[in-house]
Amino acid sequence: MFENIQVAPADPILGLNDAYRNDPNPNKINLGVGVYKDELGATPILKSVKQAEERLVATEKTKSYLSIEGTEAYRQAVQELLFGAGHDVIAKQRARTAQSPGGTGALRIAAEFIKKHLPGATVWVSNPTWANHQAIFQSVGLEVGSYAYYDAATKSLDFEAMLASLSQVPEGDVVLFHGCCHNPTGIDPTTEQWAQLAKLCSKQGFLPLFDFAYQGFGSGLEEDAAGLRVFLDQVQEMLIANSFSKNFGLYNERVGGITVVCETAEHADAVFSQVKRCIRANYSNPPAHGAAVVTEVLTDPELRSLWEMELQAMRTRINEMRNLFVSTLRAKGVEQDFSFISHQNGMFSFSGLTPDQVAQLRTDFGIYIVGSGRISVAGMTKDNMEPLCEGIAKVLA
Ligand code: PMP
Repeated sequence: MFENIQVAPADPILGLNDAYRNDPNPNKINLGVGVYKDELGATPILKSVKQAEERLVATEKTKSYLSIEGTEAYRQAVQELLFGAGHDVIAKQRARTAQSPGGTGALRIAAEFIKKHLPGATVWVSNPTWANHQAIFQSVGLEVGSYAYYDAATKSLDFEAMLASLSQVPEGDVVLFHGCCHNPTGIDPTTEQWAQLAKLCSKQGFLPLFDFAYQGFGSGLEEDAAGLRVFLDQVQEMLIANSFSKNFGLYNERVGGITVVCETAEHADAVFSQVKRCIRANYSNPPAHGAAVVTEVLTDPELRSLWEMELQAMRTRINEMRNLFVSTLRAKGVEQDFSFISHQNGMFSFSGLTPDQVAQLRTDFGIYIVGSGRISVAGMTKDNMEPLCEGIAKVLA
């Protein structure tokens, strides 16, 4: 039965990582996958996480199943981070959260919920978007459309075009927004633009789905939630998929959440009961460890402030690398203006490098960049900056 099955194409991002790993070049540089690296090029466990783990190992009493939605303490902590403690949505019990295996697991549950309960809905994603979005929604049989976002000529958000495309989205469809640190462009709407988008959303009657994978990587935990909170002021219903892979460095623990916001607490109960059914038929119930770590860190004042400092350090290092990248390219004689990189948010930027230049960087210099020209700024260090910029200067010459 299996003999006619063809080999699947390699994942464009994870496949690149495999190629990097197999490259014997001692000076290779990986700007592919979105994993934070420190100044030494390592992805260490945060101190706050390690301390929480030590406490958990000492006090943990069982490995019995969690409930379908995960623990109450975790779900509450997630909502406080998303909405801000004491937000009206929390006070009125209009939101329900289930722990999920990472942001991807949350998006998959959202996809299944949409497919089952919003019949005929198309999901609209930005052009461009994270490479996995389309696959996640299509895997449950949803139609995926795209809305205008990036202007390659000016390397900025084409907000007029974005508004124009979203005003064509019919009532009842779903529009995915990146909560902050847009992947792959690093360009986010301003707070005023978010307000305009929220207004359009409520006028058109589409359902916003926030993919919030980088809270704290842009300007700060609260600042990065501005878009989501502006939407909450204007729309009654929303889906949110959040991830702790990046901001806690808990990539391999698979910890995130799927949150539904409804008009009333009664609607939220009904909707959430259906979300739980999707989970039950998918992975039954979530893994415990990562969520227990997140809960411990978020609810213990000492660990929380340590974590916030560590998150700030990651954010600051990335921003320093953005500036150093721009100035080093200039110092290497590159005439093209790369200053846009300094103004973008989060791990990624669209470099504007062409597929041919990307291929040459890999073969000639061992520099790994996704074919679209997306670079993971988190892979830059003070040590690799010179050879990196020299390579880029040569392919641009
Ligand atoms: N959404 C976006 C925009 C992402 O960049 C990522 C991670 N690359 C995810 C979701 C998924 O995160 P996780 O690793 O937690 O599944």
